[in-house]
Amino acid sequence: SFRALVVDDTDDGQVAQFRELTDTDLPDHDVLVEVEYSSLNYKDGLVIAGPQKMARRTPLVAGADLAGTVLESSNPDWKPGDRVVVNGWGLSETQSGGYTRRQRVKPEWLVRIPDAFSTRDAMAIGTAGYTSALCLDALERYGIASDAELLVTGAAGGVGSIAVALAAAAGHTVVAATGRPETHDFLSELGASSFVDRAELQGKGRPLGKERWDAAVDAVGGSTLVNVLSQIRYGGAVAACGLTESPSMPDATVMPHILRGVALLGVDSVMAPAPLRRSAWDRLARDLPASTLDSLSRVEPLSDVPRLAEEILAGKVRGRVVVDVTA
Ligand code: NAP
Repeated sequence: SFRALVVDDTDDGQVAQFRELTDTDLPDHDVLVEVEYSSLNYKDGLVIAGPQKMARRTPLVAGADLAGTVLESSNPDWKPGDRVVVNGWGLSETQSGGYTRRQRVKPEWLVRIPDAFSTRDAMAIGTAGYTSALCLDALERYGIASDAELLVTGAAGGVGSIAVALAAAAGHTVVAATGRPETHDFLSELGASSFVDRAELQGKGRPLGKERWDAAVDAVGGSTLVNVLSQIRYGGAVAACGLTESPSMPDATVMPHILRGVALLGVDSVMAPAPLRRSAWDRLARDLPASTLDSLSRVEPLSDVPRLAEEILAGKVRGRVVVDVTA
């Protein structure tokens, strides 16, 4: 048997508990993976310690990500020994996820881990980092030049810190918005060249503000996203992927869009089709050396995930947390 962090419905709502599982508890999918690492994303915090029910089916192994080695496969695309990563696809919401030693997954969910990365590196990236890459791909596809000035919100978090590193590597001048001044050195090392206090971007602003940045990656949503849109230069774009401030956009107007042609590009990682995933992982392999991943991540044992889930919801996690599922 092996240990997993399982979400279940109880009289007190949904709770996550450690449980001993065997292979017969796993779903009936074609590929059996020996999981080495998972990771901690904001969404994992919500599933384990959030106020609302997030799992739409229970019992369910939590963990939106997994990386490991194929043990068995009845699908010809995958064979024992292949190093694989799964991000999203409803893991931890409708499908059993990565906080476990073994998991069965659908073959079409798997991405081959680039040679440059270990399974641990793949989880230092995780859903957060792969989403940052999707955001930069979206901005590039839209036509934002690689030397454009780019703002990253929620910069010291998982999506934000990897977005800073990827944007700097692509050639952007990177402005980091953070509420934690103590992370400035960390963000400078990742490639940020200047900073904005996140409070400056919050609350009710003007429909059109002074033009400040060519583009942005926004992991925060809420009034921050509204104010960022109002301060993007003519013809620019914002790739929006997050909601740590709020899912709503209070007092948003069409003005930035109809007077400055500013585009709001929505980015989803969960159901993103395979070609977008491969392109995102290619960018990560090209632009994120393992030394950068080491500097923005730390490894924590699975047994600490319930505590870490509270921390990430409180906005206290810096960079990325890799979860060692054997510990
Ligand atoms: P994270 O590590 O906790 O980073 C979030 C950052 O947001 C925090 O570090 C903090 O940055 C900032 N923040 C937190 N609370 C805030 C508040 N009340 N107001 C303004 N800023 C606040 O989380 P993550 O894993 O990177 O995820 C970030 C967001 O992206 C989440 O909303 C997550 O659900 C979303 N996401 C979406 C997708 C997708 O498919 N669309 C994929 C991955 C993640 P500072 O301390 O630097 O201010």
